[in-house]
Amino acid sequence: MKNLPFTLILLIIAAILSVTSCHPINKEKYFEEGVSKLLATYRDATIKDVSYKLSFSIPEGKDAPVTGEAVIDFSLTSKHEPVVIDFRVSQDYIHSLLVNGKAADLSAINGHIIIDKKDLTKNFNRIELSFRAGDLSLNRNEDFLYTLFVPDRASTAFPCFDQPDIKARFNLTLDMPSGYRAMSNSPAVSNDTTDSKVTVRFSETKPISTYLFAFAAGKFELVEKEINGVTMEMLHRETRPGYIENNADEIFKLHYNSLKWLEDYTQVPYPFDKFGFVLIPSFQYSGMEHPGSIYYRASSLLLDELPTLNEKLSRASLIAHETSHIWYGDLVTMKWFDDVWLKEVFAGYMSDKIVSPDFPGINHELRFLLSRFPAAYAVDRTRGTNPIIQELDNLKNAGSLYGAIIYNKAPVVMQQLEKLTGQDGLRYGLQVYLKEYSWGNARWDDLIAILGKVTRKPLEEWSRMWVREAGMPILKPVVTRQQEGFKVTFSEDDPAGTIRHWPQTLNVMVITRTDTVTGEVTPADNKSFILTEEDPLCIIPDNSGRAYGTFIFDSITAGYLTQYINEFADPLLRGILWVNMYENLVNGMIAPAAFYKTIFTALESENDLQLRNYLAGIFSSVFWDFLSDAERDSVATRAEKMVWLKVLQTDDPAVQRTWFSLYRNIAITEDGIRNLGKTWESTLLPGGLKLSEDELCTLTLTMVLKGYGNAEKIITGQRGRITGNDRLLRFDFVVPSVSSDQTVRDAFFSSLGDPVNREHEPWVIEALGYLHHPMVAKRSEKYILPSLEMLEEIKSTGDIFFPGNWVTTTLAGHHTAEARATVEDFLDKHPDYPADLKLKILQAADHLFRQQAIEKRP
Ligand SMILES: [Zn+2]
Repeated sequence: MKNLPFTLILLIIAAILSVTSCHPINKEKYFEEGVSKLLATYRDATIKDVSYKLSFSIPEGKDAPVTGEAVIDFSLTSKHEPVVIDFRVSQDYIHSLLVNGKAADLSAINGHIIIDKKDLTKNFNRIELSFRAGDLSLNRNEDFLYTLFVPDRASTAFPCFDQPDIKARFNLTLDMPSGYRAMSNSPAVSNDTTDSKVTVRFSETKPISTYLFAFAAGKFELVEKEINGVTMEMLHRETRPGYIENNADEIFKLHYNSLKWLEDYTQVPYPFDKFGFVLIPSFQYSGMEHPGSIYYRASSLLLDELPTLNEKLSRASLIAHETSHIWYGDLVTMKWFDDVWLKEVFAGYMSDKIVSPDFPGINHELRFLLSRFPAAYAVDRTRGTNPIIQELDNLKNAGSLYGAIIYNKAPVVMQQLEKLTGQDGLRYGLQVYLKEYSWGNARWDDLIAILGKVTRKPLEEWSRMWVREAGMPILKPVVTRQQEGFKVTFSEDDPAGTIRHWPQTLNVMVITRTDTVTGEVTPADNKSFILTEEDPLCIIPDNSGRAYGTFIFDSITAGYLTQYINEFADPLLRGILWVNMYENLVNGMIAPAAFYKTIFTALESENDLQLRNYLAGIFSSVFWDFLSDAERDSVATRAEKMVWLKVLQTDDPAVQRTWFSLYRNIAITEDGIRNLGKTWESTLLPGGLKLSEDELCTLTLTMVLKGYGNAEKIITGQRGRITGNDRLLRFDFVVPSVSSDQTVRDAFFSSLGDPVNREHEPWVIEALGYLHHPMVAKRSEKYILPSLEMLEEIKSTGDIFFPGNWVTTTLAGHHTAEARATVEDFLDKHPDYPADLKLKILQAADHLFRQQAIEKRP
């Protein structure tokens, strides 16, 4: 409890008093399923010095039970209430229970084991259990498994106090079939092998939260590397020749660089006992930051030959992101998951800083803009948006907190914070914060208090609007003619219909016939304005790339930009304008046909690689989501010609692959599809560049979806080309989603009703993408309602990003009034629908509602 701010101590005392002496504790909340905030607060205040001794017996295959034993040691500061241990399995999974050495009757409710007060002592207590582990978060496969416990899933596998602020030391032993290797948070201290099994014992961990405890075991290969005295271990299952050889050195180097950078920035040496990572095929996330044992999706690190700059940069950023979490998240952890954004924003902020020096040829401001703003806007513009800090009454709902607001808006807000505090002020504040809360937990308000103190800047109002409020302002230029010239200000509207003011300054640029004038403007402040002599031809709301909001163009600016946007010399400014142009398209201020014309020219001529990749994305978006079928058909031939010419003309392999992937995406004419067929046959791009196995799988599926002549032949042909069982399983899983046979698609969709068939979430999402592709969306409309009806169950069985990805991928390709009506009906008929999931639906269906609003406009 040391180092807690005085107010926090008072709050905790108040909480204890309120739940123990003054008022009887709310038993319903205390024993509620999941971990209620009340239970968490009470346990945090009364349970101390926790350690777990855990052993698991892992059988061969994926079906026989995993069994385990747990010894939980802790001390108590109060015996007012029974102790609640979380273990979310059916009762017959619990084989025996000892409390302080004596056999105890099992009392279990709502996924909790209740330990009677009379069996406990006020100081040291020991609970011993033998049990069968629940499979839900063990991710079991034929010859490997891995745990994934974030945010509250540890208690599905073993009994524990499953909340982030009861940090504990873990002592793990694994019994596994021979031939298995394992990795966990701490180093293995013994490894006993007999003919049939291996027993690995790991040393005691440093104090960590339950969601960070992890182990992976199975048929893995081990690669070790030492760089300047830092030893790193990597487990993988890669079988394709060349992939480890071509990537391993770079992967180790990127980790080493990140570690050293963070040690320097934080002035805190790497705090855990060893450093390792596991490459998992089809891992649910890109990465997960378990200390000592980071997990990655294998394909995010093992790049194909001749990777694109984007792929290299994404890999470096991912490694820097997960490594940053060791300090921000693992060493200092959020108190409650409502502050989960805090660890994410710092991991993102650090990773941008770490990666920049290694890619000197990249415009990093542009990269920040393009990687954060569009994704943040995509959620923040919707009725389903949420503030960065969200209320969380029970940990079982923590998964719903994750999303673009945390991953993409929060970094933008952090950029603003850095501007307010200065880089050095922020760094110093973060060092104080890490020092003060090492091995413990902290809240956002704790950090803001430190930053306010070290920088002497008032940050509360800024924090309240940007961090605790949902949504973003709608900003429109207001031009008034005055005696001295034209005065440009900005109005600020609150999309929620209330009056809120988001503190920020715009760096406005106004272009007139003969002049360009720039200056700072504070929205909704009449005293801050720009003055021009002539009437404005183009008002650029912000040219710094920091301002955040929906910037609606006036019609003169919209006209100017659709004509001249490609003539702005600065790539960052072009990026800012394109991001705003797209928002104006979404808001109906620019017609799709006019937008398409402008972006066609831009894509043809854009030289900046990052910007071109972004343009390729919105080109595909306007092509599929905004043009009508007739408009699309009328532009298709010319679009294919332009993109194919780019494929032919480039001699850079990475660039050629990017162009080809756009071509594959937009090709719909007979010629275009025939061209895809030729590429598929030869497996080569013009000039002889070989497509990777993944690219060929995607090409095959796309061709079948688009009705290429002999589907069976190319599916069989592609199966024959696939090396590696994991990849073949994935391909076979996805194939039915592109079938032209309705019964096959129906059977596939109904198979998703069984959670077992949803275990490989990235496979499911890939298949849904094909199933609901705009080209075939009409035939898949009937899956929308059952998909919405499944959402609650998806949430309870799936990992954190799955419900959002499920509903987003389901709705993205649909644009009809019928699809919209299905969603509206569903929401109308479920007035008491869980709020978190309702928001996900509103986010995913925004384009449907918006389309209606635009159509209704006079
Ligand atoms: Zn993260």
